[in-house]
Amino acid sequence: MRQKLIVATNNGHKAQEIKEMLKELAVDVVTMADLNTDIEVEENGSTYAENALIKAMALRDLTDGWIIADDSGLEIDALDRAPGIYSARYLGEDTPYEIKNSMILDKLEDVEDRSARFVCSIALVFEDGSYWITVNKCEGSISHSIQGTRGFGYDPIFIPQGYADTFGVLPAEIKNTISHRAKALEALRQYCRIIMEEAYDKSI
Ligand code: IMP
Repeated sequence: MRQKLIVATNNGHKAQEIKEMLKELAVDVVTMADLNTDIEVEENGSTYAENALIKAMALRDLTDGWIIADDSGLEIDALDRAPGIYSARYLGEDTPYEIKNSMILDKLEDVEDRSARFVCSIALVFEDGSYWITVNKCEGSISHSIQGTRGFGYDPIFIPQGYADTFGVLPAEIKNTISHRAKALEALRQYCRIIMEEAYDKSI
């Protein structure tokens, strides 16, 4: 039997990424758009994991099936790990990222320690309310200038460890293998595979 998996995001790109990642499993990935549902959830948790769980739990009353939600952000050590869980709202929700990114570069003008990381948490909530959470990181540093136009958000100022270019320059195939979200999705895929195999073993 196939398992229904609802993705608690309005972001079609994310939903597509998740579908792609889980395609080998016996799951039918359903988006909020598929369900004609659009809920605004106040992300008032104090960690990525709490926020991911809040988003996933918010959908529980509206649908059956397993629900997944994610939360992510950028942590810059020299800024006391800001913007962190406030990454989307940092320096103004409607401020274009070219401006946000150059404001961050200004703040780091004379800073030597430019270490930073992207973090992504994914929560998977089951029908009985129990849940599983993963938190994954992609370590790196902040560049000295805005580089590239690929990706989104803070990608043009983030250089992943082991590379010389930002995510704004690196091809999507590389980002999609080493990013915080790629790692979280891989952990989710492995976990789903294990529990689905267990359920299958029990049923025979
Ligand atoms: P969300 O929780 O995935 O919606 O991400 C929150 C915010 O974190 C985004 O609006 C971006 O500012 C930032 N962010 C998360 N992941 C990435 C990424 O892969 N590249 C650039 N910015 C990101």
